[in-house]
Amino acid sequence: MIITCPESSCRAENDARQERCLRCETPLRGYVKLLNHHHRLFNQGLACARRDEYAQARDAFAAVVAWCPRDIEARNALAMACFALRDWQAARLQWQKALELAPNDAIARQGLECIPEVEKRTAKFAGKTIVRAVRHLTHAHNTSRDQRKKR
Ligand SMILES: [Zn+2]
Repeated sequence: MIITCPESSCRAENDARQERCLRCETPLRGYVKLLNHHHRLFNQGLACARRDEYAQARDAFAAVVAWCPRDIEARNALAMACFALRDWQAARLQWQKALELAPNDAIARQGLECIPEVEKRTAKFAGKTIVRAVRHLTHAHNTSRDQRKKR
């Protein structure tokens, strides 16, 4: 596994087994542990969502977002779980934040459109597609994506 050095001025690619970044000596152990935990939590959330256990899925995704606020997949997943629980306000907030980070994100845009304007009204039929889309989310921590996110 290759990981990108978390130091923003460095971003060198290192083998995940390295103790320190080869270029800047930033310690990598703790970072790798955190990444792995983050990844595991996200997958737990997905597993819950696939079993239609959206409250548990929401909690797992919320923890991922708390750790990595710039993780768009996690934020979309969190919004979908809130959406599935008909917590429109929370879903809207998360999708709005996702769009602040990635203005062209299709899932967040579609999601926002599906939120009923009147809180008590049920979501449009298209809402089901949004909820189902969570099943297709993946969480690949590949370096190219991380670099693109950085800019
Ligand atoms: Zn480095």
